[in-house]
Amino acid sequence: MLTGMHIAIIGGDARQLEIIRKLTELDAKLSLIGFDQLSDGFIGAKKQTFEDVEFQTVDAIILPSSGANQTGEVETIFSNETIHLKPDIVKETPEHCIIYTGISTDYLTQCAKDANRKLVKLFERDDVAIYNSIPTVEGTIMMAIQHTDITIHKANVMVLGLGRVGMSAARTFSALGARVKVGANQSDQLARITEMGLEPFHTKNLEEAVGDVDICINTVPELILTAKVIAKMPTNALILDLASKPGGTDFRYAEKRGVKALLAPGLPGIVAPKTAGKILANVLSQLLSEEYEKREEDS
Ligand code: NAP
Repeated sequence: MLTGMHIAIIGGDARQLEIIRKLTELDAKLSLIGFDQLSDGFIGAKKQTFEDVEFQTVDAIILPSSGANQTGEVETIFSNETIHLKPDIVKETPEHCIIYTGISTDYLTQCAKDANRKLVKLFERDDVAIYNSIPTVEGTIMMAIQHTDITIHKANVMVLGLGRVGMSAARTFSALGARVKVGANQSDQLARITEMGLEPFHTKNLEEAVGDVDICINTVPELILTAKVIAKMPTNALILDLASKPGGTDFRYAEKRGVKALLAPGLPGIVAPKTAGKILANVLSQLLSEEYEKREEDS
């Protein structure tokens, strides 16, 4: 339980509703900022403005996946007001206050550093990234179906990168009957691809590997699908670039060559906000419970 723990939830999307639901069940006291248009009522959660909240009693701040942008603006779909996380607000919190976010920006990192508060980036955690890979891959399947006129079954699918998303994508497309080739740059990853019954290749040989590709799924967060590589792809190939912005594709050249290339960020929040919210809610409740127990032991 989190009885008496004061948590400020600032901005967000449908995923935040699952977090609010879970934390109110655990008896935390929630201040919701940027939620004035939220119609659901949650017992123990109060819709407030920055001015209403006593930040001196706030034990944790929960920001949305995107954190705060370079001017401190926090995204919210539940308010027409623009909300800003200002450095002074963070400084008002007690020393033990922890800030939880999906990803960080220079602004947010600096804000936490100046106030000497711990910043936890949830999307860097393996557990969150692996659980999130499930809705990410389901969203990728949806896009592959929407943007091709062939079945995934028997399609030549290429996955670039065998990280947390790449592995789930390779396995799932293979289970749907696609012929899956996976590009990696480490010998252990190439061995793993072989063990999975898929066709491995080293990404240094990418240009030679793309000649017959129908769907190319990129998870490598650096420019890998260069103009030289795209020039070797069939013009009816589809590139689904899942890597964080700006992706790993030369989109300008893809368009010039007539290869359809789509950057597809934030798929979990689009295709399965409830599941994506539950993933975050479960991890957050576990982390907050650990903090709560630590503080109970110390007091
Ligand atoms: P990850 O576990 O770090 O996987 C990335 C993989 O790419 C790693 O295995 C890395 O290998 C490999 N890699 C890097 N450079 C390479 C190269 N030149 N050739 C071959 N492999 C290379 O990250 P992830 O969690 O799978 O996420 C992948 C990307 O998708 C990230 O940008 C993430 O932000 C994004 N993402 C997008 C969505 C969405 O909805 N679109 C959802 C979740 C994540 P090493 O580790 O050996 O360097």
